[in-house]
Amino acid sequence: MRTTEHLEAVVERVRRTPLGERIPADWAALTDLPFTAKEDLREHYPLGLLAVPREALRRIHASSGSRGKPTIAAYTQHDLDVWSEVMAECMTMAGVKPGMVVHNAYGYGLFTGGLGFHQGAERIGALTIPVSGGVTARQALLLRDLQGQVLCSTPSYALHIAEGLREAGIGPDDLALEIGMFGAEPWTDAMRTEVEAALGLMALNVYGLSEIIGPGVAAECAEARDGLHVMEDHFLVEIIDVDSRAPVRDGEDGELVITTLTKEAMPLLRYRTGDITSLTREPCACGRTSPRISAIRGRVDDMLIIRGVNLYPSQIEEALLHVEGVAPHYQLIVDRPKQLDELTILCEGRGANLASRVKEAIREQVGVTAKVLVRPMGEIPRSEGKAVRVIDRRNLKQPKGV
Ligand code: ADP
Ligand code: ZN
Repeated sequence: MRTTEHLEAVVERVRRTPLGERIPADWAALTDLPFTAKEDLREHYPLGLLAVPREALRRIHASSGSRGKPTIAAYTQHDLDVWSEVMAECMTMAGVKPGMVVHNAYGYGLFTGGLGFHQGAERIGALTIPVSGGVTARQALLLRDLQGQVLCSTPSYALHIAEGLREAGIGPDDLALEIGMFGAEPWTDAMRTEVEAALGLMALNVYGLSEIIGPGVAAECAEARDGLHVMEDHFLVEIIDVDSRAPVRDGEDGELVITTLTKEAMPLLRYRTGDITSLTREPCACGRTSPRISAIRGRVDDMLIIRGVNLYPSQIEEALLHVEGVAPHYQLIVDRPKQLDELTILCEGRGANLASRVKEAIREQVGVTAKVLVRPMGEIPRSEGKAVRVIDRRNLKQPKGV
C-alpha cells in the first residue's frame, strides 16, 4: 500500500536525525513509533533535525512564535513542490480557477502564510497579487482597483480589511470578491457568517502549520464546507487524548497528530500539533473520500479553566457573535484577583442592555459567569495577522505552580 511504503521511507529518513534512535527496530505499525513534540524541535533548534545535507535546502521558514521561541522549518526543492501542490489542491477545492485574481494579504516573510498561498495560486495559474499584511487602507484600494476575486488572509484580518473598505466608501458593488481563504487562527461558524456578510464572499477554512509544511495540510471544499479535507497523500493524521495519548474515537475531540509522509528536509513522525479537533472518515457530500478534521477549536495551551469549567476562546466567540448587535471584535482577559480565575469579555456593539445580554448568553451557552465590558467601536485592537484573543494576567501576579 502506498501509505505504508511512504511511512517506511519516512521512518528511514528520520533515522538519519537525532530522533532516529527512539525508533524501535521492530516497529510494525504507526502506533509503535514515538511521538514528536514541539520541545524536540526547540531542543534541536535551528537545524538539528535535518534528514538531508544542508546543501539540499532551498528555503527556510519559521513558526510565527505565537508560543515562545519560533521553530525553524526547512525545505528541499521537492518539499517546496509538494507544498505548492497541496496549496493548489486546497485552493482548487475552494473554487479558485486559472486566471482568477488572488489578493494575498497573508504576511510574506518567514511566516508560511504569504508564500504558501502565493505558490498555490501560481501553480493553479491564477493572477497573484502579493499584497502581504498591513497598510489596510491600501488593501481596500487594491481590492477595488485590481478587482480581487479571492481574498487570502487570517479571518480577523479579513474583518479589518472590511472596515478599511467601509472607511474608504467602497461598497460590495465596487468589488469582485467571490472566495475567502481564511486560516492561521481558530474561527467559528458564527465568525464565518460575519466575514461573509462583511465582504460578500464565500469563506473557506484552510489549516496548516510550519512544522509540517505551512498552510495546505487540510482545507474545506466549497461544495460541503463540512470539515477540512486532509491532504492524505502527504500527511497521515491521528487524534489522541491529550493526557493519556491514547487514540480517541472518530468524532471525538482530541489533539491532532501528524506524520509527514513525503517530507525530505525535516520529516516528522507523529508530531503533536497541540491543536484540538476531531476526525471523520465518512465520505464527504462533495464525493471526496479523504479524512476530514473539524474546524480547530484552539490549542491545548489556549484552554481556559474558569471556576472549574474548561473552555476554549472559540466557544466564547460562537456564543458572543450570536448576540444581536455585537460586532465581531473581542478580547478575553483572564485574571486571578484572589483564589479564583475571573474572565472579562471586552466586546463592541450597539443596542440596549448589550452587556447583560452578552453575559446571559455566555452563562447559558458556555456555562461560565463573565464580566462583560462593551467598548466604543474601534477600541479593541484589530489584527493584521493572528489575532490576540486572550490576555492572561494570572501569571503576572502569582508565580507559576502556586
Ligand atoms: P505558530 O504555532 O507560532 O502560530 P504557525 O505560523 O506555523 O506557527 O501557525 C500554525 C498554527 O496556527 C497551528 O498549529 C494552529 O494552532 C493555527 N492554525 C493554522 N490554521 C488554522 C485554522 N484554519 N484554524 C485554527 N487554527 C489554525
Ligand atoms: Zn468535501
